[in-house]
Amino acid sequence: MSAGLFTPELLERCISCGFCLPACPTYRLTGSEPSSPRGRINLMRAVEEGRLSVDDPGFVEESSFCLGCRACEPVCPAGVQYGELLEEWRGHVWRGRNRPLRLRALFWAADRRWRVRALGLLRRHARARTQHGPQLLLGCFERTLFPGVSRAAAELAGAAVTPAQGCCGALHAHNGEPARGRELAERLGEELRGEILTTSGGCAAHLAGVIGRDRVFELSQWLAGVPGPPADPPAERPRVALQDSCHLRNGLGVWREPRELIAQVAHYVELPGAAVCCGAAGTYATLRPRDSAAVLEPKLDEIAAAEVDYVVTVNPGCLRQLRTGLRRRGLDARAVHLAELLAGKA
Ligand code: SF4
Ligand code: SF4
Repeated sequence: MSAGLFTPELLERCISCGFCLPACPTYRLTGSEPSSPRGRINLMRAVEEGRLSVDDPGFVEESSFCLGCRACEPVCPAGVQYGELLEEWRGHVWRGRNRPLRLRALFWAADRRWRVRALGLLRRHARARTQHGPQLLLGCFERTLFPGVSRAAAELAGAAVTPAQGCCGALHAHNGEPARGRELAERLGEELRGEILTTSGGCAAHLAGVIGRDRVFELSQWLAGVPGPPADPPAERPRVALQDSCHLRNGLGVWREPRELIAQVAHYVELPGAAVCCGAAGTYATLRPRDSAAVLEPKLDEIAAAEVDYVVTVNPGCLRQLRTGLRRRGLDARAVHLAELLAGKA
């Protein structure tokens, strides 16, 4: 008899080929099979079939050590939806004493619209530019730490801004509360009518998964789809690299657009590991700071070797992670959001 923790069709799809192993950052770090996508799916199967307890320390540890970057999905020939499995996994394991205290505090803050709004009350926010553009999603994290990114995005896209908006639910969906994550996304879809613009790849992927891809656009997708006069190339083009957003690239398949937009205003430099997670991974940098820093290290080496002026991100969590890492390493390169680069505010 199965334990009923995982959707059987999702679990059965894996054919144990191992193609996902080289793509997995935690497998690369450890070389350990249980810390790979295939190994984790085998752990899930063992629990589902009653051969392993759901409270097994190794099972609980791997649910947290996984970055949730979904780099295992695009390389999988069997079409395993690992992100869905991880949501189910954490939904069963990250309960009671297994739920980290810091995560409880984040849930509390993001759970009510007034609390989300209060997070950024002291900051100067984006103002409505038009009543006809998309609605800008301010984002819980961004409105607190990077309101300038929202201002730049609103300016670039002519977006409308509704200050009284809640969390999109990505935080909940990726951290053990998938039902609440869906509920918050649906509510936000009702609060913000029409097309929604976001500067966060993680929020874009979650929200699009719940209310539909025809309504949700990450900034680079939106700008790439709006024909405009060709940008005046600056006299001196800085050298600029990109850090992909994992969920934008692996969940929505968006990676070409930000590169093309950067190349319009700068000399674009592709980092060898641009598509590899930077270690921010939503709450990962907060919950597992040492592992997060270890994942970031090789990327800092690449940035140093590439001698770039800027590293562009398309997600506020990646922006914070790279700014912290570059400062600690003492590198001259600056991390900026795509909106800041394109609006000339880098
Ligand atoms: S690539 Fe896909 S099918 Fe192959 S082991 Fe990884 S998850 Fe399973
Ligand atoms: S989500 Fe990322 S860290 Fe987790 S198994 Fe897949 S590739 Fe590895």
